Amino acid sequence: MFGVVFIITLVPKMKKVIVIGAGFSGLASASVLAQAGFDVTVLEKNSSPGGRARKFAENGFTFDMGPSWYWMPDVFDKFFALFKKITTDYYELYRLDPSYRFYFGKDEIVDMPATFNEIVEIFEKAEKGAGAELISFLKEAEYKYKVSMSKFVYKPGISVFEFAHPEMLASVFKLHMFRSFDSHLKAHFKSARLRQMLEFPILFLGGTAKSTPALYSLMNYGDIKLGTWYPVGGMYKVVEGMVELATSLGVKFVYNSPVESFEFKNDKITAVIAAGKRYDTPYVLASADYQYVEQTLLPDEYRTYTEKYWNSRVLSPSSLIFFLGIDKKLDGIEHHTLFFDQDLAKHADSIYETPGWPANPSIYFSCTSKTDSTVAPEGMENLFVLIPVAPGIEDTEEIREKYFQIILQRFKLLTGQDISENIVFKRSYAHADFESDYHAFKGNAYGLANTLLQTAFLKPKMRSKKVSNLFYTGQLTVPGPGVPPALISGEIAANLIIKNEGIRG
Ligand SMILES: Cc1cc2nc3c(=O)[nH]c(=O)nc-3n(C[C@H](O)[C@H](O)[C@H](O)COP(=O)(O)OP(=O)(O)OC[C@H]3O[C@@H](n4cnc5c(N)ncnc54)[C@H](O)[C@@H]3O)c2cc1C
Repeated sequence: MFGVVFIITLVPKMKKVIVIGAGFSGLASASVLAQAGFDVTVLEKNSSPGGRARKFAENGFTFDMGPSWYWMPDVFDKFFALFKKITTDYYELYRLDPSYRFYFGKDEIVDMPATFNEIVEIFEKAEKGAGAELISFLKEAEYKYKVSMSKFVYKPGISVFEFAHPEMLASVFKLHMFRSFDSHLKAHFKSARLRQMLEFPILFLGGTAKSTPALYSLMNYGDIKLGTWYPVGGMYKVVEGMVELATSLGVKFVYNSPVESFEFKNDKITAVIAAGKRYDTPYVLASADYQYVEQTLLPDEYRTYTEKYWNSRVLSPSSLIFFLGIDKKLDGIEHHTLFFDQDLAKHADSIYETPGWPANPSIYFSCTSKTDSTVAPEGMENLFVLIPVAPGIEDTEEIREKYFQIILQRFKLLTGQDISENIVFKRSYAHADFESDYHAFKGNAYGLANTLLQTAFLKPKMRSKKVSNLFYTGQLTVPGPGVPPALISGEIAANLIIKNEGIRG
């Protein structure tokens, strides 16, 4: 009898954490917390994990529903290394070559090779001296990437003082925080085409070249130097790997469990209510969209930010997506193909300056069946088509269909193939789906845009100011949109809870 009591008192009681949402940030935080000894339960609204990176399979076609560019492989390596794992414990990576293809017009194709010297030659051919400029542009980008990764991307953004150490202050000008990406590009390249080739990662992940600090050329280093990779089987393989890791650490997943409300005592949440079930908890980590948790799940008095604050944020784009099953092999496209035959700046204006549907959109195609035979029936292709569009604009079936016809016409014009009779599967996805599937504010796809005033400590804070045991992670807080930032975000937020509990640091 006494022996039993003795044992019970010696075993430390594992503190619970409820993680809301099983997207990349929620998955990352769950594993970090579980490894530190927390009893972690992830409550996910949908029937499967992955959030915006879920997948679906139909009629023999498999589609990743969100991310398709595996960039910054070092961030994934670093994440798995926290658990003494490597990515190949969970998935196999394949480096794409060419990394991607641009169409600037019919027969005006530029392929971005994986080999840097070949890219330098392409730039030099397009503009005398641009090869050397690219080398210096990427040297600066490498500096930004390395300083950012080692000095501030992993910071929680609680205060400006996180950045107030001498090395950081000394580097502030070299990081080009106060220069626009647009003027930085113009200082290096005269050719509008070359500038577009370097500009598209920031446009697709939230910002115009004019409003984005030149700091973000670090993404060009990530893309061109670190390479564009593909997890064999699809991006969802990464989600599966992360779920396997979390499960092995004891994390419990409850699907079809949308969090509906909280119970409070003073300034603390005491329980989470999801799908009618009550979960007592001393900590909550919300990885669901920040704006939704604040404005819908929290009562007024517990909100840190007002509706006006959220309405004044610059959101990254939403997207109109088509998932298409094509009953033949397609010519002229690569694994990643970008139709940049129209004015990219006008398209960007329609997202950020005068929100509305773009008159002449740029279009992105992902066709993973070009590299992977498992994602489409033999002799067929799975085609993912995406047009970035302004968040919060009207989304109707008629509008979607109008753009579908534009896509078919442009595909025919640029690649010479009429695919209208070859579509054996079709599903569209846009604002209304982002809202109903993920509670996405204004149907945003990638969270907040990367503007200077929405960077680092100027982003919505990871710890609630009004509810002392509520923390946030994900693409609406630090460091920002994208899968690698979501992994980093999950790790930082988990560490705030770990630190709060006094376990480490
Ligand atoms: C179309 C598209 C293309 C993209 N392309 C790329 C790319 O190529 N490369 C790249 O790096 N990034 C890309 N991204 C961005 C990247 O996918 C996201 O930044 C990242 O996946 C966000 O992860 P997250 O955990 O912050 O949010 P989410 O993935 O949205 O996870 C939040 C989770 O919370 C759940 N949830 C919401 N409300 C509740 C509730 N009440 N209760 C319980 N659960 C709830 C949601 O269902 C979801 O599972 C793309 C995104 C999209 C949409």
